[in-house]
Amino acid sequence: MSDNLGFSTRAITAGQGFDPTTGAVVPPVYLTSTFVQDGIGGFRGGYEYARGGNPTRDSLQDLLASLEGGSKAFSFASGLAAEDTLLRALLAPGDHVVMGNDVYGGTHRLVSRVFIPWGVSLSTVELSDIDQVRATIRPGVTKVLWIETPSNPLMKITDIAELAALGHDFGITVVVDNTFASPYLQQPLSLGADVVVHSTTKYLGGHSDVVGGAVIVKDDELAAKVGFLQFGVGAVSGPFDAWLTVRGIKTLAVRMDRHSSNAQAIAEALVGHPAINRVYYPGLADHPGHEIAARQMKSFGGMLSVSLAGGAVAARKFAESTELFQLAESLGGVESLIGYPSEMTHASVRGTVLEVPDDVVRLSVGIEDLADLEADVLGALARL
Ligand SMILES: *Cc1c(COP(=O)(O)O)cnc(C)c1O
Repeated sequence: MSDNLGFSTRAITAGQGFDPTTGAVVPPVYLTSTFVQDGIGGFRGGYEYARGGNPTRDSLQDLLASLEGGSKAFSFASGLAAEDTLLRALLAPGDHVVMGNDVYGGTHRLVSRVFIPWGVSLSTVELSDIDQVRATIRPGVTKVLWIETPSNPLMKITDIAELAALGHDFGITVVVDNTFASPYLQQPLSLGADVVVHSTTKYLGGHSDVVGGAVIVKDDELAAKVGFLQFGVGAVSGPFDAWLTVRGIKTLAVRMDRHSSNAQAIAEALVGHPAINRVYYPGLADHPGHEIAARQMKSFGGMLSVSLAGGAVAARKFAESTELFQLAESLGGVESLIGYPSEMTHASVRGTVLEVPDDVVRLSVGIEDLADLEADVLGALARL
């Protein structure tokens, strides 16, 4: 299949050829751990043992590489497994990482509790302040610049092209966690980033039924390193998980359009509401990153956060009193979810510079009917 095809076409066709033996339109799930050899070393299609390769995983990887415009993709058992494998490929003891000051709590925990004890150092900075980023870089020692945009949960926007250029001036590998945007809304590799990581658990899977992660690269040398560690460390995605993720991705484009339009409308409905101090959504014209987001994203996505005028007490009560927005960790599924980051997704960064204010509530806006979602949110606010 040609890479000239449009995004939605590739989401359905890339890596998804029909089964040659039966003609099954949907390629089968290869639930096998090993493959018969035609004589020692006579591998069919290169398959030997499923930690090293499985056709269902390959179909997901080919799909992800196509959608992100990378040369190679690797799929993992979770987003954090993907991040861990990538960081092992990029870092050695003594190296330094620069990371945004608003990232997924588990990403910060991985670096600070696993990689720092291993001998790596970490600085967290305000990525919208390029002078601060430049001043934090230690030439020759900083090896990774880690960007998450939009960020979790404060929806900060980072200019990917600008920071990729800065990182490259210092020979740094620039990584973008593209989980919140998905490749439909944002293409970091085409903006100059070297690597994209995903929690495919979120928008790519899209149905809250599978945990997974991915690394997508464009450089062959890095591909070889990540590929070796995927096999050598072994945090691979299983075939059924890979198949569910492929199934979810086929509808990514239509889902993201709806997530974005629902979230935009809810954000606008909450601006100026007496119970709300601030709405964090890059689709609002007064969001500090709005212009950059408008340039580098197709639309502004399905995630938004709000700070409550009534502080932590009101925030907790709001998060516990919506009905369609169910109180749960995670995001990016078809169903709407609500969360209280300071004690849920970001509990691990309390007491650090990444601590999330305790008046903030995060909404993952699903693809249900907008009128029902709006009534749910406004009704819960009215009951505060
Ligand atoms: C959820 C998430 C992760 C971690 O992914 P898991 O699949 O939960 O391991 C990483 N980054 C972001 C932005 C996330 O939302």
